[in-house]
Amino acid sequence: MADLLNPRPPAPEGAPRRPRLGILGAGQLARMDQQAAIALDVDLRLLADGPGDAAVLAGAEALVGDHGDLDVLRAFAAGVDVVTFEFEGVDNALLQTLVDEGHRLVPTPTAKLYAQDKLHQRRGLGAAGFPVPPFEQARTADEVAAFAATHGWPVVLKAPRGGYDGRGVGVIADVAEADEFLAPLPDGALVEPALTIVRELAVQVARTSDGTAVAYPVVETVQVDAMLRELVAPAGVDPALAAEASDLALRIVEHIGATGLVAVELFLTPDGLQVNELAMRPHNSGHYSIEGAVTSQFEQHVRAALDWPLGSTALTAPAAVTVNVVGPADGSDPRERLPAALAVAGAHVHLYGKGARAGRKLGHVTALGPDAATARATAWRAVEILEGTAS
Ligand code: ADP
Repeated sequence: MADLLNPRPPAPEGAPRRPRLGILGAGQLARMDQQAAIALDVDLRLLADGPGDAAVLAGAEALVGDHGDLDVLRAFAAGVDVVTFEFEGVDNALLQTLVDEGHRLVPTPTAKLYAQDKLHQRRGLGAAGFPVPPFEQARTADEVAAFAATHGWPVVLKAPRGGYDGRGVGVIADVAEADEFLAPLPDGALVEPALTIVRELAVQVARTSDGTAVAYPVVETVQVDAMLRELVAPAGVDPALAAEASDLALRIVEHIGATGLVAVELFLTPDGLQVNELAMRPHNSGHYSIEGAVTSQFEQHVRAALDWPLGSTALTAPAAVTVNVVGPADGSDPRERLPAALAVAGAHVHLYGKGARAGRKLGHVTALGPDAATARATAWRAVEILEGTAS
């Protein structure tokens, strides 16, 4: 059976029982969940790939095993009160088996499918009347061409499952490119128009099993190469639009019956708001909340998973900006420049303990400020130092 890393000694005789929260995954999101769990004195156990995972390096108790193996999942679930997640890519049928065997999962597999399968999400939300972009399932390049005949080239093709940070998303100019994109996808892809995106917005929602839900202020994300680069909280949109986005996110989470932390990603297009993606876990678009909100998304996820009262989602400053730290092209490690970055007053640096590789997300910096421009300048100053591009 799998190894248990960083095993916690048994609680002393007579000590009050602490809740045991299980998280599938042990990367940077679990590492930040762990920080929240420490503050609340919650026992955490992770399912990890190995001792080098970001959260295991930080001392979290972790079972090492394959989340695609039902016996591993059973052993993991048996050791915790609640199973929650830091990623989407878990076999939904295996999760359903755990539920059928009496384990508590947050969110349930039925809800989680909306975050795992983009086609399921578009179909389900579209049928319920939520605003989703026009879409079809395309198995062949001819079907893509038929869609383009109505909506125009280029189109956007998306692998229904398994994509993140833009992997599995392609802007497709013609039939030959469609053929190439579809080749490794026997079940085809989601095809949608290349939308005119005015802004990309996100709303974090937390919900407990009794239906209580809270939404964080609407934030704006800026993607570079389809990966989130910068995040501004609150989004610089008018209050009516912010209220609409927030209401939409809450209604979607309610409709799906999701519990725990959910990030609802939205596109603002000339035709209004459209749903892009759902993530059922803390999300990069909510990292600002560690310093920028009264309750961080990670603490909120722990609270929601344990069905505890949810915390305030109010901002702690007029503006918060998070910029991701990305591995520089020369392969150098931002950690080497950490002391210099810490000289930037007001920059909150988070490094994930991951090996440096060009283009890899290695950490983030958040700054608070009286306005977005001030916070942005502070966060970028520290990130440029860390990435070695500061002049
Ligand atoms: P991932 O699962 O990799 O995060 P997304 O579906 O969120 O994939 O797409 C990644 C990014 O690609 C989006 O944040 C957006 O910038 C861009 N994108 C996605 N869909 C479209 C579209 N239909 N039209 C234009 N740009 C898109």
